[in-house]
Amino acid sequence: MNKKGVPYYVVAGKRAMNWHKENIDKMKKCRFDTIAVHGIYSMQEALDFNQGSIIEPIYMSTSQTYRDSDEMEAALSYQIPTWCYSRIANPSMYYYEGVLALLESYGTGIDASCIGTSSGMAAIQSAVDAFLVVDPKNPKAPMNFVGTCQVYGGTYQQFNVRKDQEKAIEWRKVVNPGNIEEWASKIDKNTRFIYGELPSNPSQSFFDLKKVADLAHSHNIPLIVDSTVATPALLRPLEHGADIVVQSVTKSLFTSGFGIAGAIIARKNITTNIDNDAMKADFCGYLKLLPNRDNGPSISPMNAALAMNDMKTIRMRMDVVSRSTMKIAEFLSKHKHIEGVDYLGLETHPLHNLAKEYMFLVDSEYDELYGKKVNRYGHLMSFRIKGDAKATRNVFDAFQRIYRATDLGRIKSVATIPAISTHQQQGEEGRKLAGIPMNLIRLCVGAEHPNDIIADINQALEVLDGKVYTVTYPEYSAGGASSATLK
Ligand SMILES: *Cc1c(COP(=O)(O)O)cnc(C)c1O
Repeated sequence: MNKKGVPYYVVAGKRAMNWHKENIDKMKKCRFDTIAVHGIYSMQEALDFNQGSIIEPIYMSTSQTYRDSDEMEAALSYQIPTWCYSRIANPSMYYYEGVLALLESYGTGIDASCIGTSSGMAAIQSAVDAFLVVDPKNPKAPMNFVGTCQVYGGTYQQFNVRKDQEKAIEWRKVVNPGNIEEWASKIDKNTRFIYGELPSNPSQSFFDLKKVADLAHSHNIPLIVDSTVATPALLRPLEHGADIVVQSVTKSLFTSGFGIAGAIIARKNITTNIDNDAMKADFCGYLKLLPNRDNGPSISPMNAALAMNDMKTIRMRMDVVSRSTMKIAEFLSKHKHIEGVDYLGLETHPLHNLAKEYMFLVDSEYDELYGKKVNRYGHLMSFRIKGDAKATRNVFDAFQRIYRATDLGRIKSVATIPAISTHQQQGEEGRKLAGIPMNLIRLCVGAEHPNDIIADINQALEVLDGKVYTVTYPEYSAGGASSATLK
């Protein structure tokens, strides 16, 4: 047998990396929508490796075979492009990560990388745990991190229970994220990172990204931002100084609701006081090859491919759903049974002016419809009913079109009562900190015609006028009707 040797594969690998890089550089020159649609999947990739398939194929395979032991050695020493084993990498994951890295860094000139995770929570855990490691110079030092308490309920539990209570890693809560002094007062030499969610789910909290990023960097620590609610179509925190972005891709990016998915996107050369050069240089690459390889939170190829398919339309969708949400928020703010509406798009929202500086529909200035930068605030909003917990539940139970589910980002409108669902476990005090009263309904507006959603909310609010509302649900699914003889 004529052996090729490891160097042969290394040279071929370099050639491949070059054309991949050339393709990515070409994509970086395209507009947001073009990147969302094509990602890093090229015609060469289609023709040479995927039998011409115009859509990124789903690689349902645990692992990759090698031509010989030399190629295997080159691959497993990370000298050639390889995916090896799907806990570490997989071609479908690669396409998914490639497009997300480009979208989050769009228009910034920043070189970013991405790692896919099985969920948004796994993304948060992977991102923060990388900083919660023993400092060899000071192994007994206590660790803390500083972060907004207006966060997604799952994040609240991860920080409060899993970190603070179970591991004695102190979460220093920022109660009023608009106050930069409060952030500053909580940081000390044992602070490992700063964490913020914006806009927050569900309370629509917001903070001055640039100022908080500068503050973090002045202490040599990174800023991690959960940007799920905005998506890269409306806000790209890396542009404003954040080091790392986490996404619950499950939500608006993966709007069809076929599965759960997450991602971390980080700039190259993050700021950190942890002495780890590989981690600093390429945070996501480091996670992929080391901690996440060992911990195993990676995304399945099926979910990566399905999510990526939805991402192709993210900009246009976020435009439509944001406009509808604005219309619904305006309707609600004038309704006699509504105590208040929390939506950053409303001028009455105390953080409206701040959000207005940050949240724009990407590329609207190049869109023939707009021709200028236009603000868009997404499709998550909440409103408070004039009444108690029971009245709130009565209204909620009367929705006929809007689904009652603990979900958001769907192409269909979905509502929940956070106090009894997403934010139930954090208890009364935690809810108070996060600004979640019992009469709050969270609504995430889908792509239906907004008038139909307004009509549904309007008829549901009529229960507060004494309308008696009863619903009867069918006992059999309509899907079973084909086998029944309907007389
Ligand atoms: C849903 C959500 C998460 C958690 O994401 P999963 O994909 O459900 O694990 C994190 N942050 C925000 C803002 C969310 O809405």
